[in-house]
Amino acid sequence: IPIDRFRNFCIVAHVDHGKSTLSDRLLEITGTIQAGSNKQVLDKLEVERERGITVKAQTCSMIYNYQGEDYLLNLVDTPGHVDFRAEVSRSYASCGGALLLIDASQGVQAQTVANFYLAFSEGLRLVPIINKIDLPSADPPRALEQMQSTFELDPANAVLVSAKTGLNVEAILPQTIEQIPAPTGDSTAPLRLLLIDSWYDNFKGVILLVRIFEGSIRPGETIRSFATNLKYIVGEVGIMYPDQTPLTVLRAGQLGYIYFNPGMKRIRDAKVGDTFTTVGNEKTVQPLPGFEEPKAMVFVAAFPVDQSDYGHLEDSINAIVLNDRSVTVSKESSEALGAGWRLGFLGTLHCSVFEDRLRQEHGASIILTPPTVPFKVIWTTGKETIISNPNEFPDDDRNQKVAELQEPYVSVTIALPEEYIGKVIELCEGNRGVQTKLTFFTATQVVLKYDLPLAQLVDDFFGKLKGATKGYASLDYEDAGFRRSNIQKLQLLVNKVPVDAVSRVVHTSQLDRLGREWVSKFKEHVDRQMFEIVIQAASGRRIVARETIKPFRKDVLQKLHAADVSRRKKLLERQKEGRKKLRAVGNVIIEQKAFQAFLAK
Ligand code: GDP
Ligand code: MG
Repeated sequence: IPIDRFRNFCIVAHVDHGKSTLSDRLLEITGTIQAGSNKQVLDKLEVERERGITVKAQTCSMIYNYQGEDYLLNLVDTPGHVDFRAEVSRSYASCGGALLLIDASQGVQAQTVANFYLAFSEGLRLVPIINKIDLPSADPPRALEQMQSTFELDPANAVLVSAKTGLNVEAILPQTIEQIPAPTGDSTAPLRLLLIDSWYDNFKGVILLVRIFEGSIRPGETIRSFATNLKYIVGEVGIMYPDQTPLTVLRAGQLGYIYFNPGMKRIRDAKVGDTFTTVGNEKTVQPLPGFEEPKAMVFVAAFPVDQSDYGHLEDSINAIVLNDRSVTVSKESSEALGAGWRLGFLGTLHCSVFEDRLRQEHGASIILTPPTVPFKVIWTTGKETIISNPNEFPDDDRNQKVAELQEPYVSVTIALPEEYIGKVIELCEGNRGVQTKLTFFTATQVVLKYDLPLAQLVDDFFGKLKGATKGYASLDYEDAGFRRSNIQKLQLLVNKVPVDAVSRVVHTSQLDRLGREWVSKFKEHVDRQMFEIVIQAASGRRIVARETIKPFRKDVLQKLHAADVSRRKKLLERQKEGRKKLRAVGNVIIEQKAFQAFLAK
């Protein structure tokens, strides 16, 4: 099949608007899979099927006969979620166009808007598709009107379908071929290959999902990465049809997979957006634009409840990281919780997907701290440091060496029915948001844009938004950089000793409320002891809140004293048995489960 009969496209849609269902249907129409056989071919990871979200970019090739000629169609399934923006934008860069899919009963939603602009800025041609027209609540004219007013897309070009029943789905591929341009590129030029995504295979090593922009690639050739400068011998090339199907060559314009022999060992070396070329052409070939190292924006510390579980937990963290180049892992040690790890994620969804996987395997035997974000410290010397561990945040409120403190902001897009506008504005302002835009795209549907501190977003903002709008609002966000902010470290002290795992950096306006919340919540979980226990929340030298736990009364104390020795012994024995985990903060013995309960949301 010649290059002018290739079409590379993806589907731009809000979550649940039917992207996976439609993909399956298209694969069936082209005979790539059997009808009803393999549902959701493109959602390969278990978590994707479970949560119904796409985390990794996948691709599937189809051959379709249109007006007597065979076309090679490559459908790229992109993550619908903004945490994976690098994957999304690289997938878009590898396509000539996209199907813009909208649920006829829901209309345009936040991710539709955000992904539309991303696709638009990559120069993609868009084919409007209205899905779920079988639903009684479907309102295709309204969806078409929104499409026109929001995206200036001509309703005359739209295809109305039901991906579920298959109604009119056959009209999509002819439209795709007519409206989306064929890729261009010279197969005889030196190789220029874009890495779109990758995954780990136990036998083959890292498998790369790639788009060839120029030249061609065959097994046996040696290619080099521009990002890492490492070189590899190509072991196999092929297309996903729907599974790995080897070919003798991949040419300019094609999307496919490659892996190496010997295999690539570390998923970290496969960087989304990286360009590869054949060894010898490094000087003549320009890398493709848009490569960025992924940066972690949400951090969580993980500790085993029982330190003897450490190895087991480490194994499962490593197993997950093996397939996810964007998680950063560093060792962490806490006085209160022992040895563990600090894990960094691209965003909140990325983080919660990972947490789910860990909890599935470890259940109650793992302690996860609430998510935190990195902060930037600008020193008087002009040097800047990004701090992701709150314990490393400068302590003293009067620290002379600090010139400025900054926290990360995101720009959020919220689509919602007009009746909830008051509640949502209240929620955003209550979370230190600054409104940047308010547009009505129909009489009843509104798009709000806010600049919001990322720290507020990770504090279950999405849950609160859903709550305020009965689930009708949708949310998307993008990085908006660091901004100057009044932030301080808040610590929990038990008899003056800081509980390091709990420290957080918070906005000054939240210091008092959070401090009071901390001490009263933590108090509930700490048992009375022989001496007074003082629980304090402090920022620098300022005590924000305080609670005391009175010791046992004197007379009881006398009697208890003898009993105490045996009680202690008993407790220690039980700890050995692993029923009750005790931890010391300074001279205070606290049950491990107190921390768990305290840290639980
Ligand atoms: P995705 O998140 O965009 O991949 O959406 P899915 O393909 O997973 O679909 C979300 C839900 O909508 C599933 O329960 C589908 O069965 C349902 N769905 C998809 N297309 C249609 C349709 O045309 N009609 C109806 N009634 N339901 C649909
Ligand atoms: Mg899906």
